Amino acid sequence: MSLSTPSHPAAAFTPNSLPSFLQADQLGPWGTYLQQVDRVTPYLGTLSRWVETLKRPKRMLIVDVPIHMDNGTVAHFEGYRVQHNTSRGPGKGGVRFHQDVTLSEVMALSAWMSVKNAAVNLPFGGAKGGVRVNPKLLSLGELERVTRRYTSEIGVIIGPTKDIPAPDVNTDERIMAWMMDTYSMNEGSTATGVVTGKPIALGGSLGRREATGRGVYTVGVEAAQKIGLSLTGAKLAVQGFGNVGSVAAQLFVQAGATLVAVQDHSGTVFNGAGLDVAALQAYVQAHGGVAGFAAAQALDPDVFWEVDCDVLIPAALEGQITVHNAARIQARLLIEGANGPTTPEADDILAERQILVVPDVIANAGGVTVSYFEWVQDFSSFFWTEADINARLVRIMREAFEGIWEVAQTHRVSLRTATFIVACTRILQARELRGLYP
Ligand code: NAD
Repeated sequence: MSLSTPSHPAAAFTPNSLPSFLQADQLGPWGTYLQQVDRVTPYLGTLSRWVETLKRPKRMLIVDVPIHMDNGTVAHFEGYRVQHNTSRGPGKGGVRFHQDVTLSEVMALSAWMSVKNAAVNLPFGGAKGGVRVNPKLLSLGELERVTRRYTSEIGVIIGPTKDIPAPDVNTDERIMAWMMDTYSMNEGSTATGVVTGKPIALGGSLGRREATGRGVYTVGVEAAQKIGLSLTGAKLAVQGFGNVGSVAAQLFVQAGATLVAVQDHSGTVFNGAGLDVAALQAYVQAHGGVAGFAAAQALDPDVFWEVDCDVLIPAALEGQITVHNAARIQARLLIEGANGPTTPEADDILAERQILVVPDVIANAGGVTVSYFEWVQDFSSFFWTEADINARLVRIMREAFEGIWEVAQTHRVSLRTATFIVACTRILQARELRGLYP
């Protein structure tokens, strides 16, 4: 009997094909990112021959996270770690615990980390992780077990010189401490540099907790100057009053702005005379959200987008500013504290209406910048003062913003496209210089 060679139909070579598991109508934030790459491609010159690199994450890991629940059952959660690009250095990006996390969302968030790290010229690639879980429904013990099992599962691809996670939505310094400990126990030696956003006592950096909000504020000040907007008396609306939104609000108010509206997962509060930031922070700490805050009027969630304000800071989740609300936004300046809050279609509406958008990939880069400082401090075992850290952060953010502003003026493009031009050029230059292996 002769053996016949099985015949496989030749696969069509489609250079722009999507990952096989994603349908065109299921792209979500990854679709937003792909459109952003398409918009920058005409400005990349000869480097555009490498642009497909940006459309394909380097490595994606899906893990099962089984844990013992307090009631004696075993629950399984799905976890992800995506390393989008490591041409310029190890992967870097946060870990999100949220019931709606999907692989395509983590892909987009990892890609935005590549762009962000290159935009501020940090020696990192881009990565992101997530677990599909509602941590608010877990006990402390269950949360620790989810964190430790997830860390063990992704332990094969993370490490201080490979990929360094950090906090994101619903993860904090306590979770980073568990991640650092789990990785260290598995490795057999303490590796503080495996995550950033750790408690100060474990090699965390002073100023890290406030860094993203401080960065949002720093670029906000620069952008306001460019459009002749005085922050004294400027009306501010913030969506998301967590790590990023509450710190940014506090700094803008300290600079003379009036916080008129805040929306979070629990509700929307408004006070035209100004919300007391410290009182609202304390209220959220005690009650888990802004709903019910006494010194304010409750608003319908959709009305938040048409509140009379000068500065709007989305600092919650992606996909919030869309064709459905972009035409109603009153602000002159929109600073993206969140990752991916504006869809490309909404971007066009905002541009037409001459609302200046400072995009996420520069606006919220303060967090990863101080994460970089933390990583450097861990490696050198020499720790800087908070004043030193804040001064270096402000310098890096200002310089990056100025460079991007100039590119935007030169090419007459939005700040988002300008940031992508700067960042993608850096990533693809590294790609070209390194060449393809083998
Ligand atoms: P957080 O968990 O501290 O706060 C998230 C906030 O968003 C909370 O106030 C929550 O109530 C609110 N929120 C959640 N769902 C909402 C909804 N459907 N509508 C309105 N509000 C909602 O998270 P964070 O660290 O402040 O992150 C916020 C955003 O900033 C995310 O997009 C994150 O990726 C981005 N970001 C965070 C950092 C960082 O250092 N923490 C750095 C860069 C970017």
